[in-house]
Amino acid sequence: MLQQKEVRVESMCLVCKMENEITEHIFLRCSVAAQCWQLMLPDLQYTGQSLLRWWDQVIEMTDKRKGTEVAAVWWSNWKARNEVVWNRKYTRVYMVIAQAKKYLDQWSNAQKSAACTSFPQLYEGDGDYTWVRPQESMIKVSVDASTFQETNASGSGW
Ligand SMILES: [Zn+2]
Repeated sequence: MLQQKEVRVESMCLVCKMENEITEHIFLRCSVAAQCWQLMLPDLQYTGQSLLRWWDQVIEMTDKRKGTEVAAVWWSNWKARNEVVWNRKYTRVYMVIAQAKKYLDQWSNAQKSAACTSFPQLYEGDGDYTWVRPQESMIKVSVDASTFQETNASGSGW
């Protein structure tokens, strides 16, 4: 749609300028992301598989906890990329991982708080997030992931 309106969309990665900015490049192969995985998952080789297949392999090789950490690093990496693109501010790899752990801790604490809440009950629609259309010339990527201990299932999407 952006191209139909003749808004120029840069296809080359704005961070490394080495490859096209496709999902697998952003979350697996771009410099900071690749270094995160070398540190966190040194035994997992990237062989060109899709992001979802790669994540399935993470779950198969490790556990759901690691899968949740991976999703948090995706989010942290996305925020770090935005800092490069919009503010020319580079985030070190260890900070991307540390931020991801911080997000997980905050999320974990929020879950505990919700369990202890003084609200008598939750209603349908509580906590819903309404998607908001991005400004013209902007690309919006929404990422989410969940794990379910009871059914030993997990999933992600964007
Ligand atoms: Zn890149």
